[in-house]
Amino acid sequence: MLSSSTSSTLRLHQPSRPHRRRPPAPGGATQLAPSRRHLPAAPAVRARPQRIRALDAAQPFDYESRAAGLLEERQRLKIAIVGFGNFGQFLARTFARQGHTLLAHSRTDHSALAATLGASFFTDPHDLCECHPDVVLLATSILSAEAVLRSLPVHRLRRNTLFVDVLSVKEFPKNLLLSSLPPDFDVICTHPMFGPESARDGWDGLPFVFDKVRVGDCPARRARAEAFLNIFEREGCRMVEMSCAEHDAHAAETQFLTHTVGRMLAMLELRSTPINTKGYETLLRLVDNTCSDSFDLYNGLFMYNKNSTELLNRLEWAMDSVKKKLFDGLHDVLRKQLFEGSPLAPDTSNVRK
Ligand code: NAP
Repeated sequence: MLSSSTSSTLRLHQPSRPHRRRPPAPGGATQLAPSRRHLPAAPAVRARPQRIRALDAAQPFDYESRAAGLLEERQRLKIAIVGFGNFGQFLARTFARQGHTLLAHSRTDHSALAATLGASFFTDPHDLCECHPDVVLLATSILSAEAVLRSLPVHRLRRNTLFVDVLSVKEFPKNLLLSSLPPDFDVICTHPMFGPESARDGWDGLPFVFDKVRVGDCPARRARAEAFLNIFEREGCRMVEMSCAEHDAHAAETQFLTHTVGRMLAMLELRSTPINTKGYETLLRLVDNTCSDSFDLYNGLFMYNKNSTELLNRLEWAMDSVKKKLFDGLHDVLRKQLFEGSPLAPDTSNVRK
């Protein structure tokens, strides 16, 4: 800060040596005021010191900080989370920390928890919609998504509200949102590929899949969509733009497979032992990671991803193939023990193993 004695005027001397070129400020902004960037070359005679007002001198910095503040303001969104369960609350914590205004609605009254995050909870969806959020975030279970969406009085929302879903399957909500919402609404389908367990220590480096299904061709609507995606980018997520169909094909291979194996292992009631190997500990963690999600979520992965049935069939085939290999080997040993040296032993020398 300038002291009061120096704040009224500042003396600027013509430099005796040329200025070193400063690197550009982040975002392309230059650190010099525009009027000073194009000063003519210094005259040969020594120039008299210029007197300029302190207010003028401070302006470039003031302008930059104000511009940064304005940008922050524009990035701030009013987000209505519909489905304020495990995952909705998990997302809300980060949204709140980033300074967004939060509204929430759910089947169950979560008003006490919402209050701890500074979010307003609405039991009546009409009241929620009348608050005119910028973004409605659908975070309800896959199985209930259609009924919940249809229960929202969307006519009470602003005419071009942005709808985002975070369901773990993507083609189903894409078709649902496109067929249920007015054509003026924007739609982004997303899948944060992490949850309260796997992202306990932050979102840095974790994949965030999104498909800008419909974003109106106007600067304000594009800026709103970018501001929403920026929430995840700021946390360090790996942003993966991908069609909903492509997501579902990959997710059957990765997510549904992982959850199925986790749930199968859980049936075995595995326990920690004094001689756990690293591999076994990975299995125990897999059970924890997958079974902490609701069965509704897992069921949704199966019911609403057309690729899941085929994956389940392949998993069954894989288990049968491994079993067959083991039992074939066992039969060979048994046959040998039973018949070797015996006059009744069949000739197995031509049998393919
Ligand atoms: P979930 O069991 O899939 O969903 C729970 C939410 O759905 C709660 O808000 C619950 O309402 C609501 N709900 C369930 N049945 C309902 C019904 N019949 N009518 C109205 N609302 C109903 O568990 P979740 O983990 O919170 O997941 C929410 C969404 O996020 C899902 O679509 C899931 O696929 C997606 N997702 C989850 C994760 C994760 O790691 N958990 C990661 C990425 C995406 P109440 O609040 O009233 O109980």
